[in-house]
Amino acid sequence: MKAKVDPELCIGCELCVNLCPEVFRMEDGKAVAFTDPTPEAARESCQQAKEQCPVDAVVVSS
Ligand code: SF4
Repeated sequence: MKAKVDPELCIGCELCVNLCPEVFRMEDGKAVAFTDPTPEAARESCQQAKEQCPVDAVVVSS
């Protein structure tokens, strides 16, 4: 599993960082996914971040 953030879409709301700090962090006002692959223990919260991002900027691939 791998997560990415589309910087063109991200509005910097920090929701994904709060939901899944193991994978996402803020850089220059935008979220970035800094782990590849996503740690096993963070898969569920990473998926939640994808589902709850208000602008669908989180992309998760298997
Ligand atoms: S939840 Fe979406 S819009 Fe908010 S910081 Fe994360 S990627 Fe950006």
